[in-house]
Amino acid sequence: MGTVNLRNPVRTCVACRVEAGKCDLVRLVRRPDGIVELDRTGRMAGRGAYLHATADCLEGARKRRAIERALGAPVRPETWAEVLNLS
Ligand SMILES: [Zn+2]
Repeated sequence: MGTVNLRNPVRTCVACRVEAGKCDLVRLVRRPDGIVELDRTGRMAGRGAYLHATADCLEGARKRRAIERALGAPVRPETWAEVLNLS
């Protein structure tokens, strides 16, 4: 646990619970209208949940509904398709 890096803040992957720099994680965001979307820019407004862009974490989160739990909203199948494409 060292230096604070404002450009790459630390976030916790909701699948494996390991911390990583924000730049190394995939962000999903619950928009104000309740739709969960993949946030490719990391700047979308709304509540975010983070995942490693690895097959293990993406698949694990999908199977265990980790994103749904973290964001309190359902993730559409087409959003999962987009997310799983990243691994
Ligand atoms: Zn992970």
